[in-house]
Amino acid sequence: MTALGTAGALVAGFLLRCPVCRRGGIFPSLLSYRMRERCPACGVELMPDRGEVTGGMAITMVLTSILGVVGVIYLAVFTTISPAWAVAWLIAAPTLFAVWFYRHAHGLWVAVLFLTRNMNEAHPLASMRRTDVDAERAGTVTRPLSSPDAHGTPLK
Ligand SMILES: [Zn+2]
Repeated sequence: MTALGTAGALVAGFLLRCPVCRRGGIFPSLLSYRMRERCPACGVELMPDRGEVTGGMAITMVLTSILGVVGVIYLAVFTTISPAWAVAWLIAAPTLFAVWFYRHAHGLWVAVLFLTRNMNEAHPLASMRRTDVDAERAGTVTRPLSSPDAHGTPLK
C-alpha cells in the first residue's frame, strides 16, 4: 500500500469510517461507544478476533498519559496556578480527552488492523474469531474439536 493509502486508512479510522471502504461508519450513532461488528457498507469485520478492543484502549491510555505528563510539566513550569486548580485541571482535562478520544482510538486501531493483516482471516495467534465466541455464547454453534482452546492449544 502506498503512503497515501496508509494515511487515508488512518484518517478514515480516526474519522470513525471503515478504513477498508472509507464509507461505512464504524459506530452506529454519534453517542455510541460500542463499535459495529461489521462495516455497513462493505461488510468487513471491524474487530475480527477476540481481544482486539484492547488496541483502542491502549492507544487511549498512552495518549491520555502523555497529555497528563505534558499538562503537569506545563502547569508546574509555565504557570502560577494554585495547586488545587492544577489538580482539578489535571483530572478534568485528561478525563475529557479520554472520553472524546476513545472512539477515535478504536477507529485508529481498526485502521492499524487493516494495514497490518488480512481482515478476512483469523490472526494465527488468536484463539477464536469474535463472531465464533458470540455464536458459542448464544449456543448456536459449537467449537469443532480441532480448533484451539482459549489458550491457543489445539484440542485433539
Ligand atoms: Zn467498509
